[in-house]
Amino acid sequence: MTTPESSRDLDIYLARPRGFCAGVERAIEIVERALKQYGPPVYVRHEIVHNKHVVESLRAKGAVFVEELHQIPDGGVTIFSAHGVAEAVEGEAKRRDLPVIDATCPLVSKVHKEGQNHAAKGRQVILIGHAGHPEVEGTQGRIPGGVLLVTNADDVTRLEVRDPERLAYVTQTTLSVDETRDVIAALKRRFPKIVGPDVKDICYATQNRQQAARDLAAQVDLLLVVGAKNSSNSNRLREIGTETGIPSYLIADAGALDSAWLEGVRTVGITAGASAPEELVQALIRRLGDFGRTRVHELDGAAENIVFKLPAALTENAARAAHNA
Ligand code: SF4
Repeated sequence: MTTPESSRDLDIYLARPRGFCAGVERAIEIVERALKQYGPPVYVRHEIVHNKHVVESLRAKGAVFVEELHQIPDGGVTIFSAHGVAEAVEGEAKRRDLPVIDATCPLVSKVHKEGQNHAAKGRQVILIGHAGHPEVEGTQGRIPGGVLLVTNADDVTRLEVRDPERLAYVTQTTLSVDETRDVIAALKRRFPKIVGPDVKDICYATQNRQQAARDLAAQVDLLLVVGAKNSSNSNRLREIGTETGIPSYLIADAGALDSAWLEGVRTVGITAGASAPEELVQALIRRLGDFGRTRVHELDGAAENIVFKLPAALTENAARAAHNA
């Protein structure tokens, strides 16, 4: 095997925190518990989280991933993904009497509620987010009266609103903190009466991972972000590296590492998006060992100890089953 500069030492720095957030841990546990409780198959609408490895491992245990509810047979146990779903999807599930377990992250549900409260007060709601992302589709489909979508400050200049005096904004949970501040500033300049949560809708996990990636990027020659191409928060982490001025790549797993990236590199930073399992980070560290002697350091960063409660349907049934056993 060609190992460029294989005699060279590589210092690997790991961001902290990185990888799984509480919403992703919860969503995966919901599918695993549902499989145990109801037996396979259980049907998951959309990828439970944006990670092929997670999806494949659940598929191997009996989860069936579908894009739309009509692909689920009558009576099939149905799980909504961590990104949330529009009200119409929930309504269709009810009409069909499908047994639903909702794995929507509580922080996404919180944004839904905020938007609904604004709409109830007669405010037109603007959502800052990326078109086509399932979370955005879910949020748009939860707020009565329609939602205007903006992604950047330019979009704000093109907005046509009902009444500039009665406006509110909410945001996708996985945006870039800095970019979102710019968009909010543009909204406030154009509509001084607009109300909204500053960047507080951006979830704790996104904010912590972005700060950790910024700290990491400041001290390495190369940044590798482990995560899926369609993972919003993983893309933002790679952008932070690029903005810092270092080569930065988003890779699905160790197999996607290109040895050419390591030329002239002494220090490699690794982080992982909120839906990327730690085992992929460890596999990447092992892979880097093929190119030289490696020393691994973990940076200090915010400690996370948030755990979200599971839906009652899973905990109550499990308790009942244990009691009857
Ligand atoms: S990234 Fe944030 S909002 Fe999304 S699942 Fe994780 S904790 Fe929830």
